[in-house]
Amino acid sequence: MSYEQLTSPIRVGVLGFGGLGQAASRVLAPKGEMIWVAAADREGYAYVSEGLNPDVCIAAYQSHGSVGYLEPGGTLSDRSIHDLIKQASVDGYFLALPNLPNTFIASVVSQFIESGWQGVLVDAIKRTSAVEQLLGLKQPLAAAGITYMTGCGATPGLLTAAAALAAQSYAEIHSVKITFGVGIANWEAYRSTIREDIAHLPGYSVEKARVMTDEEVETLLDRTNGILTLENMEHADDLILELAGICSSSCVKVGGVVDTRNPKKPLSTNVQVTGRTFEGKISTHTFTLGDETSMAANVCSPAFGYLKAGIALHRRGIYGLFTAAEIMPQFVK
Ligand code: NAD
Repeated sequence: MSYEQLTSPIRVGVLGFGGLGQAASRVLAPKGEMIWVAAADREGYAYVSEGLNPDVCIAAYQSHGSVGYLEPGGTLSDRSIHDLIKQASVDGYFLALPNLPNTFIASVVSQFIESGWQGVLVDAIKRTSAVEQLLGLKQPLAAAGITYMTGCGATPGLLTAAAALAAQSYAEIHSVKITFGVGIANWEAYRSTIREDIAHLPGYSVEKARVMTDEEVETLLDRTNGILTLENMEHADDLILELAGICSSSCVKVGGVVDTRNPKKPLSTNVQVTGRTFEGKISTHTFTLGDETSMAANVCSPAFGYLKAGIALHRRGIYGLFTAAEIMPQFVK
């Protein structure tokens, strides 16, 4: 799709209106090529065909607990995603949903397939096993006329794509090492992200983290001074880079440090790609994100870049499942 062909703004929905969902609404606000028309959370949804106002939606969510309280445009529902899909006219959805349990996003995708809706879906899913479930839906997605972009946040996402690009200098890739630093002022702003990170700690699992009460999370964070140190994470960057033919998944390592009490990053997020050039030289490319860029900026903005790329594919009749390393994101104006 060339820029000229984009005649009307892409109509965007955001599923999940927690930390990332709210940030997504703010990322979209100044864009001319996209218009944010729909949102859903656990208790309800909001749909306004002419566009939603982030400030008003965030205020409704923060004061009452759901965008379903928005007036006008809000509806309370315990089947919010199902009801929204049926009612709204949306070209593409960003799934800013928790993947708790680890099968949740795949179940939402099945719901889309069954609904008969056609368009583009983008996720910022993290676990390898979660992307594997989506791979199993590749054919049903294609048959349903859905273009699905998976792993399109920061990691997997921006950093995986950067690794795919960096790999081009080499004849052989030896390792891809992703190290992220995240600083957030308080864990409550990103409850699911923190729970999913806890699930990677030794002695924890997705199920164990999912059922932890907020008090139990706080007790754990008190013990660690608010810091989560994560190593050898089960992160889909490995599968995504293997699927893209860049290296075997065993060459990819992901870890990081999350400070839940300080918006300053504890370390600079980076990806290091080591390989051998055609002349036999071993070298490492390093791509480092600016420390001022937040997790929200590095997840939501790429997600919409991939959504725009997905729309270009969809308009050409190309459906199915694509990863962040397979398709170049497009810049959204
Ligand atoms: P959050 O806990 O702040 O918000 C989750 C939202 O989802 C809430 O609004 C909740 O009401 C809604 N929700 C929960 N169940 C629902 C249901 N059944 N139907 C409709 N809505 C429902 O979450 P967050 O911290 O913003 O994280 C969202 C996701 O983003 C997590 O899965 C996290 O792992 C992922 N993430 C990815 C990256 C990346 O780089 N790829 C980085 C950060 C976070």
